[in-house]
Amino acid sequence: MASTLEKITSLAKRRGFIYPGSEIYGGLAGTWDYGPLGVFLKENIKYEWWRHMLREDHIYALDGAILMNSKVWEASGHVEQFSDPLVDCKKCKKRFRVDHLPRRTALRDLKDGPSACPECGGELTEARPFQMMFKTHAGPVEDSSSVVYLRPETAQAIFVNFKNVMDSFHPNLPFGIAQVGKAFRNEITPQHFLFRAREFEQMELEYFGRPDHADQYFDDICKMRMDWFLSLGIKKKNIRFRKHDKDELAHYAKQATDIEYRYGISEDGFSELEGIANRTDFDLKTHSEHSREDLQYFDEEKKERFYPYVIEPSLGLDRAFLAFLMDGYEEDKLGGERRVVLKLHPKLAPIKVAVFPLVANKKDIIEKAREVYRAFSRLVEGMRFRVMWDDIGNIGKRYRRQDEIGTPWCVTIDYQTLEDDTVTIRDRDTGKQERHNISSLDKYILEMLK
Ligand code: ATP
Repeated sequence: MASTLEKITSLAKRRGFIYPGSEIYGGLAGTWDYGPLGVFLKENIKYEWWRHMLREDHIYALDGAILMNSKVWEASGHVEQFSDPLVDCKKCKKRFRVDHLPRRTALRDLKDGPSACPECGGELTEARPFQMMFKTHAGPVEDSSSVVYLRPETAQAIFVNFKNVMDSFHPNLPFGIAQVGKAFRNEITPQHFLFRAREFEQMELEYFGRPDHADQYFDDICKMRMDWFLSLGIKKKNIRFRKHDKDELAHYAKQATDIEYRYGISEDGFSELEGIANRTDFDLKTHSEHSREDLQYFDEEKKERFYPYVIEPSLGLDRAFLAFLMDGYEEDKLGGERRVVLKLHPKLAPIKVAVFPLVANKKDIIEKAREVYRAFSRLVEGMRFRVMWDDIGNIGKRYRRQDEIGTPWCVTIDYQTLEDDTVTIRDRDTGKQERHNISSLDKYILEMLK
């Protein structure tokens, strides 16, 4: 039987959420194109993230360039260290990331010598590093002085703009800088649909505070991030925290916790959705040393100069997208009929309302339905509130189509509408239908969206 991930991959393509990148040329591994509905769902996730981040006025927004001076990546340690140890199987020639091997062949064992291939049992080579940053050249000359990297994370743009934001706004600690943007990693084995891509988007906050308050901020941010997922409908049983052991921590991190989602692709089903780390003062200090710009904070009251600590919640937008799709996916029975339904939170649903004329060949009904459609279209807010018109096939089929893309409400204009200006509103999750007056439709939907 197909797994939920396989079903989602196929639904996403069929219904215009996600297409494989460069598909007509055979594709390009690790790249995905967001289709018409995918764009709306992704925008809605982004919007909810920004709303959540910006609800306090000491969070500043940033949109840094993807191409940065290579010195940024030398300072951050990415040029030297941003690599994954790899092993090859001498027998079947497959290549594996050491941290993706089953636990019995994991890193500790490999230090003691090669271990068995998880696919064929063959002997594995010694582990060796693989640089994951995509390299290119800026300008017409392709030599070592023109090398630039596509950023493998968005965070560094925040650190290199720390002083700029301080100089523009003079914030007091604690304050944060948030950013959403593309990141690129030459993943050895891009797989599991959007979960591991070579081009993806990150939504990151760097929250700067006094070192002695950092533990508290870390705990607060962990809670706040988990609450965000739950408030957008992720089921509790499918999401959890996983605290990193001391020997897993990056050298600069004091503590780290992942929020994991049950993607069903690992041994126990759970894999990283968002990483939250206390990165200490490592980044600001290193960039100060390398750039010779003073990135310390000056506390006017205490007349103290110091490097703030930073807490970083880093979420992969595409992994969030996948988690929302998987979590909403259900196959159930409604009115005796089997259906596929995406129970997306209404705030995230790409289409909020679908408008159906009961029959496609009755002028009065079509006109009335157009009127309702136009009224809803007035509520349309860019990508966030979208309405769809559907007059193809019988009503049952139209309901099924909307269920499959997660539309929370379907409005049908029928013969009775012509008499008393009422329409039916059908609820995606329960299938229940209620009659409402056209004049109160917008209020009703907006109220439900709250
Ligand atoms: P993993 O161990 O799964 O490779 P990571 O620990 O390297 O992830 P981070 O560097 O902490 O990931 O990046 C922050 C977030 O960016 C991750 O939690 C994830 O949501 C997202 N992310 C990282 N790599 C990818 C990728 N290849 N494809 C999609 N999203 C990614």
